[in-house]
Amino acid sequence: MKRPTTRWQHLLGQSITSPTELAAELDLDPAPLAAVCARFPMRINPYYLGLIREHGAPLLRQAVPDPRELTDTTCFEDPLNEENLSPVPNLVHKYPDRALFLVTSRCAMYCRFCTRKRKVGTARMRITRETVRQGLDYLRRTPAIRDVLVSGGDPLLLDDDTLAAILGELRRIKSIEIVRIGSRVPCTLPMRVTAQLARTLKKFHPLYLNTHFNHPAELTPAAARACARLADAGIPLGNQTVLLRGINDDTATIRDLMFGLLKMRVKPYYLFQTDMTRGTDHFRTPVETGLAIMRELIGHCSGMAVPTFAVDAPGGGGKIPMQPDYLQSLGRTLTFTNYLGLTCTYHNAA
Ligand SMILES: *Cc1c(COP(=O)(O)O)cnc(C)c1O
Ligand code: SF4
Repeated sequence: MKRPTTRWQHLLGQSITSPTELAAELDLDPAPLAAVCARFPMRINPYYLGLIREHGAPLLRQAVPDPRELTDTTCFEDPLNEENLSPVPNLVHKYPDRALFLVTSRCAMYCRFCTRKRKVGTARMRITRETVRQGLDYLRRTPAIRDVLVSGGDPLLLDDDTLAAILGELRRIKSIEIVRIGSRVPCTLPMRVTAQLARTLKKFHPLYLNTHFNHPAELTPAAARACARLADAGIPLGNQTVLLRGINDDTATIRDLMFGLLKMRVKPYYLFQTDMTRGTDHFRTPVETGLAIMRELIGHCSGMAVPTFAVDAPGGGGKIPMQPDYLQSLGRTLTFTNYLGLTCTYHNAA
């Protein structure tokens, strides 16, 4: 029996996926859109389209195909070397104690800067019952893994029963202590976070959820309701932002975003330097921009609002935190520059 379509599934079904339709909706030239869509998937759901109409460029550029996606010769298909770090399909085991488990190829919107642009939302990302089974088998026979990141695609695009089945299997593996979900749905389709979903997720604690907001205009009342539902279900919420050229690469935007997230009970976790993903070179900012933003946050605003700025090293080296340098000299007496630029000292212990 086919389940009735829920409101969020209905909305998702009304997404724009064709370049001609998008061109008509936003009054754009269809030819360049079509060329990009032939190579990379596009999906803009009615909720995010509404935000684009209201706020323009910073949201439009995250969602609308750009011809520069096709002319990038600097970046790589698989910058994090995920395919070679996958012992079974769709499971990336890079760090000793944790693994990234990809359980769906679909998202509520296809972000133009996606790290897995090479395959997300396309037939190149093959996720089946069988690959999920293989992933679970690998986790069962690899007890060193204590923390599993369930991602994709976007795991919250699965229906509640399918998601609960996967989480249930993970919970039956005693060596897995923590499960994290990575989902952009609270930002891109917050109505997916139903009361029923929150009740379902609650059964699988300790469960964490990291979401992905990139701009304060995405912090809508609907997004706040979605986060409140998850937080009320006892799920600690984190956020991963990608630093994007011309979209959020200034201190005021990042500060407003981080404070807005805190007010929604979401703790800023990472601020990422854009990965070197083919088709996304035009989104990259110099690392110095991120470091300058961090210098203007640290000490100047609540430490709770300050994320870790990190680069995910090409080739699979892992996430490398980058901090502005406060240490002037290290020895019997340490000399620092504080957040206001004043020199401070500390007498070192022997
Ligand atoms: C980001 C990532 C993790 C998690 O890293 P944390 O720093 O613990 O959040 C784990 N596995 C892979 C493959 C990742 O890319
Ligand atoms: S939601 Fe995440 S996985 Fe999906 S397209 Fe956006 S960045 Fe990629």
